[in-house]
Amino acid sequence: MTALRLPSVDKLLRCPAVEPLQRRYGREALLATLRDLLDEMREPARHGQLAEIELSEAVLAGRAGERLAAQHRSRVRRVFNLTGTVLHTNLGRALLPQAAIDAVVEAARYPLNLEYDLASGRRGDRDDLVEGLLRELTGAEAVTVVNNNAAAVLLALAALGARKEGIISRGELIEIGGAFRIPDIMARAGVKLVEVGTTNRTHAHDYEAAIGPRSGLVMRVHTSNYSVQGFTASVATERLAAIANAHGLPLLEDLGSGTLVDLTRWGLPAEPTVQQALAASADIVTFSGDKLLGGPQAGIIVGRRELIARIKKHPLKRALRVDKLTLAALEAVLGLYRDPERLAERLPTLRLLSRPQEEIRAQAERLAPPLQAALGPSWQVAAVEALGMIGSGAQPVARLPSAALCLRPQQPKRLRGRALRQLEEALRLLPLPVIGRLDDDALWLDLRQLDDEPAFVGQLALLRGEAP
Ligand SMILES: *Cc1c(COP(=O)(O)O)cnc(C)c1O
Repeated sequence: MTALRLPSVDKLLRCPAVEPLQRRYGREALLATLRDLLDEMREPARHGQLAEIELSEAVLAGRAGERLAAQHRSRVRRVFNLTGTVLHTNLGRALLPQAAIDAVVEAARYPLNLEYDLASGRRGDRDDLVEGLLRELTGAEAVTVVNNNAAAVLLALAALGARKEGIISRGELIEIGGAFRIPDIMARAGVKLVEVGTTNRTHAHDYEAAIGPRSGLVMRVHTSNYSVQGFTASVATERLAAIANAHGLPLLEDLGSGTLVDLTRWGLPAEPTVQQALAASADIVTFSGDKLLGGPQAGIIVGRRELIARIKKHPLKRALRVDKLTLAALEAVLGLYRDPERLAERLPTLRLLSRPQEEIRAQAERLAPPLQAALGPSWQVAAVEALGMIGSGAQPVARLPSAALCLRPQQPKRLRGRALRQLEEALRLLPLPVIGRLDDDALWLDLRQLDDEPAFVGQLALLRGEAP
């Protein structure tokens, strides 16, 4: 091949194949993309490494169009969560109910009474928008809402225990994932950590012996993401609150997931409720909005009025407060809890968690043939029973009986690992990415969360030719 000359940007801009791109993406983006494309081709063109056709206006316009489309595509992408983990932190946790989606749209579009009291015409407090509902549902005296539960714990500790000692059982010094570790959060909040008891057993007298003139609070953390079994002992919240209060100290309980209803009603494992913690006299309880509650990301702090007032006055509260969209969604989600009878119908998190295994199995049997057809004979597709989990640290040892499509490579053994990775990638790169789970030399698609079956089936044809 011989050296070729590149067309000029001006010439390209005038060519009919490029015109529609300018209308669609604007002149600036188009110019930048064309310049990038031509820059990349300059060297290869000089060295005769390109065919003439690659520099034709039509081909260049096509490549510019692909690039612009890719840049234009939203980075926030909807995916199919077929991992078997319902509240998957990396995949956005809870899905909002329709009532919350409507509330978010309304709050996004119009001015609203975010911090404005419509009754008096005076300045209001954004927490007031959800305080009534949260008090009604939990029995708490007062509430405040922040960005997430990590923020709730940090703020409560900073407001109530800074420069004092925080007493906590050794068995509760947990890491929630990422950088959230109870000892670090206490340090950041300015609370001096005083650990009592042992990893597996902590007794009332351990707490009592640790309380002294520098004590500021007693903390209890629901060890939501791991379980200690065997020879264990811990102090019931009621007893612990009595010990703390007898010395004038508040008891903070971080429930993590926290829920407002008894989940066993839907055949799910029991998770401590916020009402139980408050009834057992915890002075402050913190929990997440987007775990079992099934709402937007938020950290909810409920408890005694004077303590909540101190928390709200702390400067960090302003830094950690929630926005109007979150409050709108949270209010709508909480509203659904007033009618627990219909909660499983209306709240996607609960509906998905309580989906009967037979229904999921029937779906797996329905979908196995079309998937087998799309993947061809180098894969074996089977509808099988599977065990999923709640996720987000809730009930780490509990399993949700579910059903999955199990995709096993039929290639010679030495090629299977690569085939699996390629199939996993092909699924992940679909227009609506499908996220499954690799385990036991197979790719598992747990169907508990497959709601939009037509969209899933509709893109199977794209796998033909892509699957190894
Ligand atoms: C999940 C969890 C947190 C953190 O909550 P986020 O809402 O993710 O910030 C804190 N404490 C416990 C016990 C948790 O389970």
